[in-house]
Amino acid sequence: MKRNTIIAGNWKMHLSYPESVQLTEQILSEYKNYINNHTKIILFVPFVYAQSIARLCLHRGEIYVGVQNMYPEKSGAYTGEISPTMLNSIGIKAVIIGHSERRTLFHEKDEFLAKKVKSALEHHLIPVFCVGETFEERENNQTQEVIRTQVTKGLFDLSSEEIKNVIIAYEPVWAIGTGKNATPEQAQEVHSYIRSLLQTQYGSSVSDTIPILYGGSMKPDNAAQILQKPDVDGGLIGGASLKAQDFIAILQSVPQSNA
Ligand code: PEP
Repeated sequence: MKRNTIIAGNWKMHLSYPESVQLTEQILSEYKNYINNHTKIILFVPFVYAQSIARLCLHRGEIYVGVQNMYPEKSGAYTGEISPTMLNSIGIKAVIIGHSERRTLFHEKDEFLAKKVKSALEHHLIPVFCVGETFEERENNQTQEVIRTQVTKGLFDLSSEEIKNVIIAYEPVWAIGTGKNATPEQAQEVHSYIRSLLQTQYGSSVSDTIPILYGGSMKPDNAAQILQKPDVDGGLIGGASLKAQDFIAILQSVPQSNA
């Protein structure tokens, strides 16, 4: 089963507005040389720039603009929050849900994240649902248990039809922003475990179609080896997505067999 390869950038809370436009324009001027029908790009940008960046990327079939969070209600008295309907109205196509920074710094729990995933899907936004263990959990051999809990609680209330529209990102917490990536073998081991959970719950006709991205210090010099693993369907890239040359170099690392 051929799955799309997805190269996604998470800009987090970085860049000024002019810098974000410049980065987008650099990516737009080069990506065509390195992309094909099976590769898609998603730029997860700060809310305040989302509409402008979405306009810049309009009519580029393979490049989508997403945001890094959303609130699961359509509208209401939720001061400071952004709803899925607002995102729909400015052309946003995807949303990161459950990034470890949201789970840790903003105390977002599995049940709340499950609500966000459901709400995103109801509004035709693609949720990129993040899971991953801490260093301590890995050292204590709890990686599978942590991943199983996050996947089960976050996603398994969805129907087969719903989950087909979800992207999962495996992001070991110890690898995010640390310069210390998972080895290709460690990534493959967890990705194939996640796929086995999906298969048990939904069957292989569903589990075979769901892209599972790796995130955690992916860089031009380690991307090719990680991306060539069979259950790794792309990357969610933080630091290296802030420089057009690095992001494009990662795009170039997509194995030709996936291309
Ligand atoms: C991320 O923000 O999801 C991420 C993986 O960051 P970095 O690539 O900087 O580790």
